[in-house]
Amino acid sequence: MLTVITGPMFSGKSIEMIRQVNRSKIAGKRVIVFKFTADNRYSQTEASSYDGFSTWAIPASTAEEIFARVEPDHEVVAIDEIQFFDDAAVDIIFDFVKQGKEVIVTGLNLDFRGLPFELRGGTRTMADLLVRADSIMSLHAICTFKNGHICGAPATRTQRLRDGQPVAVDDPIVQIGSSESYEARCLKHHIVLPAQNI
Ligand SMILES: [Zn+2]
Repeated sequence: MLTVITGPMFSGKSIEMIRQVNRSKIAGKRVIVFKFTADNRYSQTEASSYDGFSTWAIPASTAEEIFARVEPDHEVVAIDEIQFFDDAAVDIIFDFVKQGKEVIVTGLNLDFRGLPFELRGGTRTMADLLVRADSIMSLHAICTFKNGHICGAPATRTQRLRDGQPVAVDDPIVQIGSSESYEARCLKHHIVLPAQNI
């Protein structure tokens, strides 16, 4: 059984995953949790999480690292930010599902351009997981576009900003960012500039 928790940045995907993981733990299931890290050497001491998440999630940067850690008697496998992993993550997830495991992943469905988020390698996208998921939780954030006041509409898109300005469609895709460079936006306020060919 595969559950995909998806939506733009700031939509609470990780918090929802933690809620589901905690329920599985209460039920006495054997659970293993992974979070993406760009660099394993530093992640063990990383204090980036606002909710204690990093204290019990295993840092991983490739699908192979996940595969190597999951044991036959793990009943629940949870992976945060699956969109940052490599293409092999898709096959590994469905291997786990076939083995009867419950797999819960979070991931951005769309990149800043509003296109299906490509996994590393570029042959798989989040769509490959979403179309075969048994359960999809599509979360919304709140549009924080400001024009005198905050828009406040449900946000389905992730706006990439550089120096406060919308970026072009040919801006590099993966940039693990902070709130300074990304905002949740509604469709009306999601702005992607034409290619700059830089
Ligand atoms: Zn808006």
